[in-house]
Amino acid sequence: MHTTAVFPGSFNPFTIGHKSIVDRALGIFDRVVVAVGHNIDKPCDDTARHIEAIRRAFRDNSRVEVTSYSGLTAEFVKRIEASAILRGVRNIADFEYERNLADVNKEILGVETVLMFSLPEYSYITSSMVRELAANGHDVSSLLP
Ligand code: ADP
Repeated sequence: MHTTAVFPGSFNPFTIGHKSIVDRALGIFDRVVVAVGHNIDKPCDDTARHIEAIRRAFRDNSRVEVTSYSGLTAEFVKRIEASAILRGVRNIADFEYERNLADVNKEILGVETVLMFSLPEYSYITSSMVRELAANGHDVSSLLP
């Protein structure tokens, strides 16, 4: 049986923290689909640019696919016949949020979620912090894959 995980997110931008989750998940799943979602709470005009950057980060890995989607993540997971949603947890705030999402996706939509804890050295990295630093002229290249 082939196992595919969908790693959904805004990825605005995709950081080394996100990449680390995908790299580690490849030890568990046969394939990881990184799915850039259109989130109405976090509008992003740069989806195509983010997809391009994520593809570049995994250009040598045929087990990683990068795409965008809209609508419910769980419906996307079912449509492509993936096994589970993959998400990362950095801290207690992420945990509370992810727990709620996972419950909805399981109870209402019948889709499992697999959570991976971030590596300690990446747990402070957030996309919004990277955006803020970049907007104020800081070099953020060390935080991007
Ligand atoms: P969303 O808007 O769906 O939360 P994000 O792009 O912010 O999308 O995050 C996607 C997933 O990656 C989430 O599960 C988030 O907790 C996780 N994540 C974000 N940053 C990190 C990090 N530094 N280390 C591990 N996981 C992370």
